[in-house]
Amino acid sequence: MKSAIHPQYYPKAKVVCACGHSFTIGSTVEEVHVEICSACHPFFTGKQKVLDAAGRVERFKKRTVLTQEKVIAKAGRAKSKKDSA
Ligand SMILES: [Zn+2]
Repeated sequence: MKSAIHPQYYPKAKVVCACGHSFTIGSTVEEVHVEICSACHPFFTGKQKVLDAAGRVERFKKRTVLTQEKVIAKAGRAKSKKDSA
């Protein structure tokens, strides 16, 4: 190994995940912060996780409710028209 060209190696570098899980690895940086790890990734946990930053799921649910209300109101109006005629 050529001297003075290699970065400092940390055999017990600490990895800290956003979920709180931490473990050690070998790295050239002393501490690594990650957003997702094997303890919280859906692939390993088997749980579904919705990553919804723009609120798209909420918007879709709201729209669905509004549309259903419109359909119900329309059906009610049609029925009352039929009754009066
Ligand atoms: Zn994690």
